[in-house]
Amino acid sequence: MTEHASRPGANDRPLSPRTLAAQAMGAIDPVTKAVVMPLHMATTYVRDPDNQYRSGFLYGRPDNATVREAEAVLAALEGGAAAMLFGSGMAAITTVFQSLEAGDHIVAQDVMYTGSRNWLRDEAKRRGLTFQRVETSDLAVLEAAVKAGPTKLVWLETPANPLWSVTDIAAAAEIAHRAGAKLAVDSTVATPVLTNPLALGADIVMHSATKYLNGHSDVLAGALVLPRRDALFERLSGLRTIQGGIIGPFEAYLLIRGMRTLHLRVEAQCRTALFLAETLEKHPSVARVLYPGLASHPQHELARRQMRGGFSGMLSIAVRGGEAHAIATAARVALWKRATSLGGVESLIEHRASVEGPGTPCPPDILRLSVGIEDAQDLYADLDQALTGN
Ligand code: PLP
Repeated sequence: MTEHASRPGANDRPLSPRTLAAQAMGAIDPVTKAVVMPLHMATTYVRDPDNQYRSGFLYGRPDNATVREAEAVLAALEGGAAAMLFGSGMAAITTVFQSLEAGDHIVAQDVMYTGSRNWLRDEAKRRGLTFQRVETSDLAVLEAAVKAGPTKLVWLETPANPLWSVTDIAAAAEIAHRAGAKLAVDSTVATPVLTNPLALGADIVMHSATKYLNGHSDVLAGALVLPRRDALFERLSGLRTIQGGIIGPFEAYLLIRGMRTLHLRVEAQCRTALFLAETLEKHPSVARVLYPGLASHPQHELARRQMRGGFSGMLSIAVRGGEAHAIATAARVALWKRATSLGGVESLIEHRASVEGPGTPCPPDILRLSVGIEDAQDLYADLDQALTGN
């Protein structure tokens, strides 16, 4: 759980997050002068002769030096004061929910990542929490659901899985704060490259670092970043320690490596996703394309304001002919990988309703596309042959 102070560059000009990430905060190993810091795997540390732990490390469940290094990079990327890393995105999400007290009320997004929805559906009541899921992109609906007093947390995802609605973070923060509630934003899909929710007033930004932050489909990780090292931070980090949610050091090491190229990857993914969205919108086998970068998207103007330099690497298409044609299309791709998850360098396609299961709000004709860094024309040609086979 690292506190971040942004490092000055030449002439005391603050270094940009892109530079800090590329150099993993510029850390150099003091023993060897290596430009890559060593991986610290130890789970326990020796006490000083006078019974103190002056190194700041005692045991691996509260803290670890490699984890701290990854947290410092992430805090810099989000413009936060402090970050904490978990063994998965769900571990980070459920730590926020579990920080609430029995009787508290949560207002959450209606259509959002299925794991967050399912936790509320299956676990909230057991812990004495109540919740309401609403269409948060409609601010009047959000405002009506947030109750001053009982509502302690507003939970947003923007853009939101798998239909990519966009919610106004600054307006949602005002609504939450007026009612005395905290605003948490799952910003996994936006990434710190496109949006910094803390700068817009959010109290917590959450990432499934499994996705874009790591970017190579080989690490499970989750993150919370906060604007202050305050009582909320202490509560969440205390829960991480007592519940054993910390990320492993090897995963943190890989995550540092992934974050060094975050900007390059996300910029390429946004470019290709926009090209695919615009091209697929004209495809005869596609009924609809859902992507915040398209003028046809209901929150396109908001996305232009809130997301800087791109609209994410995620889009969904509704396939003409309904569910059977959507599943058949996913079965016919050769280059795209027919797999769940998102944010990696390889492009993935999935029939979202099949993975979300019964009760999903995802329409049955939807295919979700996670755009990687391959050649855009190669990706389009593969989709075209898969769609044209219907
Ligand atoms: N949030 C979003 C937007 C996700 O897409 C996911 C996973 O797909 C999660 C949270 C959960 O993350 P993890 O799978 O790392 O637990």
